[in-house]
Amino acid sequence: MLQLNVAKLKRAPGNEAFFKFSSNLPPQELAGEGIRFPDPVEARLNVVNTGDLLVVQGKISGRLLLSCNRCLEHFSWDFEVPFEESYAPATGGGNEYLTFSGDMMDITPEVLKSIMLALPMKLLCRDDCKGICPECGRNLNEHTCNCSTVELDPRLSVLKDFFKE
Ligand SMILES: [Zn+2]
Ligand SMILES: [Zn+2]
Repeated sequence: MLQLNVAKLKRAPGNEAFFKFSSNLPPQELAGEGIRFPDPVEARLNVVNTGDLLVVQGKISGRLLLSCNRCLEHFSWDFEVPFEESYAPATGGGNEYLTFSGDMMDITPEVLKSIMLALPMKLLCRDDCKGICPECGRNLNEHTCNCSTVELDPRLSVLKDFFKE
């Protein structure tokens, strides 16, 4: 849980504090697959009381264990994502802002959201991951195989036809 103690901060407008701490975050689900944080996630955050709001700004860094879209192997992804959210004291009425009550402000859901938003569209263990052979199922990054399923680049097959004539 990433929680900020805002007991002092919330007392007066203009109050400001810097937080640096780390915490374990729960495993998440991404497109039906479990992903997890092998290490504690670090937060470096500045919080300002603007009068109406507590504005949190800073960076979240850590590491996620993901599985490669091509070869299905696990790999770790180091991240450092910006974080910026504003929280209003819960008043009971409708509020367009995120709210907090008490002295401990839990920012875990928003932190998780910003990490998930920063994930690359395609999760690859490396840019040139060769994937797995559709015939024998070997991981082609680690093995070569003798299967004859060499996929011809369509542009090359055009050339092949060209040379036939
Ligand atoms: Zn891969
Ligand atoms: Zn093969």
